[in-house]
Amino acid sequence: MVNVKTLDEYLADAAQAHGHLCAGQVLGVRLAMLGMCKLGIEDPRGKDRKRLVTFVEIDRCATDAVAVVTGCRLGKRALKFRDWGKVAATFVDVSTGKAVRVAARESSKALARSMHPEIPGKNEQQMRAYREMNDQDLFDTQWVKVELGPEEFPGYKGERVVCEQCGEGINFRREVHREGKVLCRACAGESYYTPVAEK
Ligand SMILES: [Zn+2]
Ligand SMILES: [Zn+2]
Repeated sequence: MVNVKTLDEYLADAAQAHGHLCAGQVLGVRLAMLGMCKLGIEDPRGKDRKRLVTFVEIDRCATDAVAVVTGCRLGKRALKFRDWGKVAATFVDVSTGKAVRVAARESSKALARSMHPEIPGKNEQQMRAYREMNDQDLFDTQWVKVELGPEEFPGYKGERVVCEQCGEGINFRREVHREGKVLCRACAGESYYTPVAEK
């Protein structure tokens, strides 16, 4: 155990940041604590600050808890979101290049039910069980390699380019080269919105 705070201490922090304590918070805190243990990162918000980049795979409760434990935030470029709809995260120690992916096991829900059939509510049942379950029952862990280009790092200072179609500035090499033109991803056809006429 190398985490600088206990599970209860992290859960208190997570509940405050997230607005409530829920099964997802317990799962997220434990997931991140396990990742930190595997990497030997004791205090990611203190002395080990800047050692970590975290990829999360879902935008739910657990992700807020992962951010609380790791200190990795979207606005600091240390939290990367891959929208795969999975309760999983990959922790990259940028000082060593080592990376570990931790994923919640599908079987943990059924196990929570069998551990605490006396608790009626599913959330309460899982909150209790996810505190008590051992790491192996709760998570699958895997050592992985994550290719991180220089533009992915939090401190990256790169040139801004301007989209030749819409004129908006693009940072961090997110531009697309298409038929001799430099385009933003929206103008290159990856847009998630369509303009509507003003009323
Ligand atoms: Zn929640
Ligand atoms: Zn554009």
